[in-house]
Amino acid sequence: MATIAFIGLGNMGIPMTANLVRAGRRVQVFDLQPEAVSRAAALGAIPETTAVAAVKHATVVISMLQSGEQVAGLYGGDDGLFGHLAPGALVIDCSTIEAEIAQRMAKVAAGHGLDFVDAPVSGGVAGAEAGTLTFIVGGSEDQFTRARPVLAQMGKKVLHAGPHGAGQVAKACNNLLLAAQMAASCEALNLGLNHGLDAAVLSEIIHQSSGNNWVMEHYNPVPGVMEKVPASHGYQGGFQVNLMCKDLNLAMGLSQGSGSPVPMGSAARALFSLHQVAGHGGLDFSSLFRLYRQPEGD
Ligand code: NAD
Repeated sequence: MATIAFIGLGNMGIPMTANLVRAGRRVQVFDLQPEAVSRAAALGAIPETTAVAAVKHATVVISMLQSGEQVAGLYGGDDGLFGHLAPGALVIDCSTIEAEIAQRMAKVAAGHGLDFVDAPVSGGVAGAEAGTLTFIVGGSEDQFTRARPVLAQMGKKVLHAGPHGAGQVAKACNNLLLAAQMAASCEALNLGLNHGLDAAVLSEIIHQSSGNNWVMEHYNPVPGVMEKVPASHGYQGGFQVNLMCKDLNLAMGLSQGSGSPVPMGSAARALFSLHQVAGHGGLDFSSLFRLYRQPEGD
């Protein structure tokens, strides 16, 4: 079975690696943070001290980094990984990044005789842990067919969005909607709480009514309403406010490029930016609820 290199062992990369190991894969791992490499090693992955060492003999490389700048640096920089892979290798970038960077990476990869797909994910840390992620793939039909079996070992749905970059466009659309859902859910819950309603009771009412959405179903932002969500654990782990701001900026870039109006996305971006500059960028994005509660000192 193919040796896989996995680069980027953060909130998402660690559980994704764990699922590949569980599926019987040999997974060579690297992260800039040595503690992350040790965590992955404890789960059965092969620890490496550089990205170049991690891709040795690998025929599949998966990356899960924060930004397009990091992805471009990893693969295309002076000593980039593209120059260290044997022709024919498959590179799957699961990070959420600019569509143009994904397209550029695909072109450079092709020049090295490599297959590249953009494959950002939806489903959060819980989905990564449970192996139920949705992968949103951009690339040719053949590349999609090649990537699918590997991705299926970390997720439940592997969807082909279109050519290179299409996965990133679809992901930006999804996260614009997620950000708006989170902001609106925080707003509605805060309104009810300020009128004496119990958070769990109101959440169940919305869950059973027409205002139901993914946030209310899986990611309630009020501490204590759902047990296994960041809100009930000091908003630690999960999906950082910094990353949501990055994704909203990606959506704004796309909207400018196509002249598509995004007033809801702009409102959500303003709220998440305010929360970020107030010093909460490292918390999970559901901590936006605190922005609404601050007047009461919550
Ligand atoms: P994270 O910050 O927890 O992890 C990113 C990891 O990449 C860090 O450990 C960092 O040290 C490492 N890294 C950065 N540059 C590197 C390099 N050159 N070489 C090796 N390692 C490097 O982020 P995350 O929450 O795991 O998110 C990763 C990506 O997935 C982001 O693009 C994010 O937008 C997307 N995403 C996250 C979630 C979520 O719920 N956390 C959900 C869907 C998509």
